[in-house]
Amino acid sequence: MKNHKIGLQGILFDAKSSYMKGPALAPPLIRNAYNSDSANYFSESGIELRPEIWDDKGDYEVVDYFDIEKITAKNISKERPLITLGGDHSITYPILKAVTDFHGPVNILHIDAHSDLYDEFEGDKYSHACPFARIMEEELANRLVQVGIRTLSAHQKEQADKFGVEILAMKDFDIESLPKFNVPIYLSLDIDALDPAFAPGVSHHEPGGLSTRQVLQIIQKIEVPILGADIVEYNPKRDINGVTALVCAKFLKEIAAKIIENKA
Ligand code: MN
Ligand code: MN
Repeated sequence: MKNHKIGLQGILFDAKSSYMKGPALAPPLIRNAYNSDSANYFSESGIELRPEIWDDKGDYEVVDYFDIEKITAKNISKERPLITLGGDHSITYPILKAVTDFHGPVNILHIDAHSDLYDEFEGDKYSHACPFARIMEEELANRLVQVGIRTLSAHQKEQADKFGVEILAMKDFDIESLPKFNVPIYLSLDIDALDPAFAPGVSHHEPGGLSTRQVLQIIQKIEVPILGADIVEYNPKRDINGVTALVCAKFLKEIAAKIIENKA
């Protein structure tokens, strides 16, 4: 298993959340759920993902937003994909800065209820409503595919058109119409992509979303190597009986299995 180690870091940060705080508390709870005796360590594809597979860098309390890039840069290593547990979605921009310093511009698969393409939100260009505007402006992505979107404002539609973002809107969702990738990707998974019935532990409940199974299918259908991933916006303050923590842990396990299966 040694060659299969996967980097893991937790970013305890929710200062860029516009509506509600809480995601800074998420990483240790996702780890606990991952290691809960309620389940084993096997992925659905039959890969065992015991704690030893992780090159675990621990959790970081972040005060200065821009430190996230430095922390991530330190934790990236060659041939070892890094998964980040958030934190609110603002963290994806500094993470991508570090990832692209290492790998160059990437293709991104972004699963979310929201396209997070605001030029600025409530006066903040780094709000969790803005990371993909920054990423596209700075050309950190040469392709951005968004899935599960169901809140596109006129402004964000303009931004999406300007940046050439490919959107598979929730209203049109069908697993067979998922765009295909032919180069390695970065996966950014905002837990509010899920219907609140499946994942109540998020700040922004947006009805009419993906099921846990549909997100698993999206992950399981990835055919290219995964360079890195994040799981963001889990808000423990809104969770019920820890079910959303377990959903995050399940995605963490399935993403890790996919990283191993598709290793370049
Ligand atoms: Mn988001
Ligand atoms: Mn969202």
